[in-house]
Amino acid sequence: MADEKDFYKILGVERTASADEIKKAYKKLAIKYHPDRNPGNKEAEEKFKQAAEAYDVLRDPDKRARYDQFGAEGVGGAGGFGGFGAGGMDLNDIFRQFGDIFGGGSFGGFSGFGGFGGNNGPQTRQYKGGDMRMKVKLSLEEIATGVTKKFKVRKDVKCAACGGTGCEKGTQPETCSTCHGQGYVMRTRRSILGMMQSQEVCPDCHGEGTVIKKKCSHCHGEGITAGEEIVEINIPAGVAEGMVLNVQGKGHAGKHNGVPGDIQVIIEELPHSDFLRDENDLVYNLLLTVPQAALGDTVEVPTLTGKARIKIEPGTQPGTALRLRGKGLPAVQGYGYGQGDIVVNISVYIPEQLDKKEKEHFEALKDHDHLQPNPSVKDKIFRAFRNYFNR
Ligand SMILES: [Zn+2]
Ligand SMILES: [Zn+2]
Repeated sequence: MADEKDFYKILGVERTASADEIKKAYKKLAIKYHPDRNPGNKEAEEKFKQAAEAYDVLRDPDKRARYDQFGAEGVGGAGGFGGFGAGGMDLNDIFRQFGDIFGGGSFGGFSGFGGFGGNNGPQTRQYKGGDMRMKVKLSLEEIATGVTKKFKVRKDVKCAACGGTGCEKGTQPETCSTCHGQGYVMRTRRSILGMMQSQEVCPDCHGEGTVIKKKCSHCHGEGITAGEEIVEINIPAGVAEGMVLNVQGKGHAGKHNGVPGDIQVIIEELPHSDFLRDENDLVYNLLLTVPQAALGDTVEVPTLTGKARIKIEPGTQPGTALRLRGKGLPAVQGYGYGQGDIVVNISVYIPEQLDKKEKEHFEALKDHDHLQPNPSVKDKIFRAFRNYFNR
C-alpha cells in the first residue's frame, strides 16, 4: 500500500487507535477544515474530504478490518466507479456524517450550512443560523402547570432592507454561472481504480447556486443583521433543574433566508418557601405541637394550588410520612419520574421555654408510664430516619 493513502495518517492516529480516538481525531479535523471556516480554500476542502473519507472507513469495524488487511482496495464498493473515498462521498454524505458525530446535525455553532434543500428543489445548500442557549428560572407552580415565557432576545435577524436576500433593493440573486445554479461542480481525477468523478461544492457560490451581484448596503450581502426579537417559549409541565429543551427555529436567522438555528433552554428551578422537590414529589415539613401529636388533630397543609386538610392520628410519631397522592408534580413526557405526591414529613415541636404553670404540667406528667418510650416506638422512629437517608 505504499502509493496509497494512509487513512490512519490522515486522521493522525495510531493503527491501534480506539473508535473513540478516531472519532475525536476526525471531529477535530472536520472543524478545522470545514468549508465554512475556509471559504475558497481548495487545500482545506481537500483535507476536509480526505478526513471524511478516512473516517468513513475507520469508523466501521468491518471496513476497518478489511482496510487493515487489504488496503484501500479492500474497502472498495462493488460499484467500482467511485466505490470508495471522496469520489463516492459527496458533501451530502459528509454532512450526514456530521450529524452522527455532532448530534442532530446541528452544525450551527459557527453558522454552518444546514445541509441541502428539499428533495424536489435543486440540490443547493442553505445556510443555517447559529444556535443559542439561555437559562430560564421557573417556580414550582410554573413547573406544575407548564408555562409560556416571553423573552427579548438579541440575535441575528433577517435584514429588513433586503428581506434576507442580501441583494440591493431592486436586484435579485443571479444564477451562478460556474455551476449553472446546481451548487456543485463535477471534477474528474485519476485514481488507482481508474477515473473517478467527484461532486464538489461550487467555489463561486459556495453551494448556494446563486450569487449576489449588488450587495445590500445594510447587511453587506449577508441577509442578516444584529437585532432583537421577542421569543415565546412553551415549557411543558414537569420539567426539572438541568433539563435542556431544544426549541427549533428560534435561534439566529440563517444567512440568505436560510434555516434559523435553535435555542437550547436550560431549566433552573427557583427555591420554594414550603416545599423541597424530590424527583416529582414535593416534601413538606409539618411541625406539630406535643398535644397535637399526642391527641391527634386535623390540620391544613399547603399545596401548589391552595390548601389540603390532613388528619393526624393520636400518637403520631415524628418522622412519619403522610402522602397526598397526586398532589406533586406531573410527569413530563419522555422523562423518568411519574406523577408525584406531596409528602408530609411530621416533626414535633418541643417547647423551648416554659412558664411556671406549664413547667408544673410537664413535671406532673414526667413519670407517667405512657410517656416512657418503648423499644418498638424507638425502632419505628429510627427506621423512618434511616429510610429517609437510604432511599
Ligand atoms: Zn440586507
Ligand atoms: Zn455556483
